[in-house]
Amino acid sequence: MSRCLALIVAAGSGERFGGAVPKQYRDLAGLPVLRRTVMAFLHHPDVAGVRVVINPAHRDLYDPALAGLDVDAPIPGGASRQESVRLGLETLAREGAPDCVLIHDAARPLVDPGTIARVCAALAEAPAAIAAVPVTDTLKRAADGTIAATVDRTGLWRAQTPQGFRFDAILAAHRAAAGDSLTDDAAVAERAGLAVALVPGDEENHKVTTEDDLARAARRLLPGDVRTGQGFDVHRFGPGDHVMLCGVAVPHDQGLEGHSDADVGLHALTDAILGAIAAGDIGRHFPPTDPQWRAADSAVFLRHAAGLVAARGGVIAHADVTLICQRPRIGPHRDAMTARIAEILGLETGRVGVKATTTEHLGFTGRGEGIAALATATVRLPG
Ligand code: MG
Repeated sequence: MSRCLALIVAAGSGERFGGAVPKQYRDLAGLPVLRRTVMAFLHHPDVAGVRVVINPAHRDLYDPALAGLDVDAPIPGGASRQESVRLGLETLAREGAPDCVLIHDAARPLVDPGTIARVCAALAEAPAAIAAVPVTDTLKRAADGTIAATVDRTGLWRAQTPQGFRFDAILAAHRAAAGDSLTDDAAVAERAGLAVALVPGDEENHKVTTEDDLARAARRLLPGDVRTGQGFDVHRFGPGDHVMLCGVAVPHDQGLEGHSDADVGLHALTDAILGAIAAGDIGRHFPPTDPQWRAADSAVFLRHAAGLVAARGGVIAHADVTLICQRPRIGPHRDAMTARIAEILGLETGRVGVKATTTEHLGFTGRGEGIAALATATVRLPG
């Protein structure tokens, strides 16, 4: 396998960004932007090492930003991005040229492992390959704030980084282009007549240019507003031939008493979800005095609670129910219960837990007077 190094271009002063600290050294969800960018490559299996080109005046920002990472000393950049890349390539050449180099903007901290892998893989076939996304918006050319023309977007792509190259080819191309002001390394390669392949990038691999971009990247990284709610319910045994538990009819020599179908598991879970969004309890939404809920399928209650989460732009991350009873035995029905809750909530089954326990014949559940249920739900609301 060929040896591939990542060259991170971090020499910009970030004038468009404003503020005292250049954007590549700003905090992004607890880590400097540059540290996140470097880590994306440092931990990638296709990348043998990382070097960073910086503005020498930023050394006091660079050192703490990358403290503890296995990265060699930074390379001093030049007056333009193109010059900084060329100086970086010259340093790599002096130190022992790699087979390939991935050139990447420090200000794209959300680059994903798949994009890096696709660029590396394409270099087996082509001398150059860049991450890019097809243009899907309709493009307009403006003149004095008015549309002068609609531009045909057929075949148009937005270039991202990483941009990968066979090392000797891009070094020669940069030497030949020295003094020009090309905006990316693919343009340098094109000028040298290299064929540059396009591989799919990722919309999230956007460049942090403005405060809004930084906020967008932070939203992507932070978990949002995570809430946990709990629920508890009890129903008493009465005459009957089955009990409804977590949406499944379980044959039994008794039934459960209640206004609805008395599904103690779904009631506890409904309360847990309502609790997570501070939306009261099941009795507030579905009063037991209201005749319309008589013998109701408790899936209606659970679906309603999930709908309130969705209405706030949230998602249910996880739901967990513990049924507490001496009988009936829950184990044979557990998979069906998990599947039913997942179906009602629109979740994958890996996000739903159903468990059961007895109380060793102690207390009302142990004496077989009724069934209790505990539930926990985790909800993620927009941050
Ligand atoms: Mg109940």
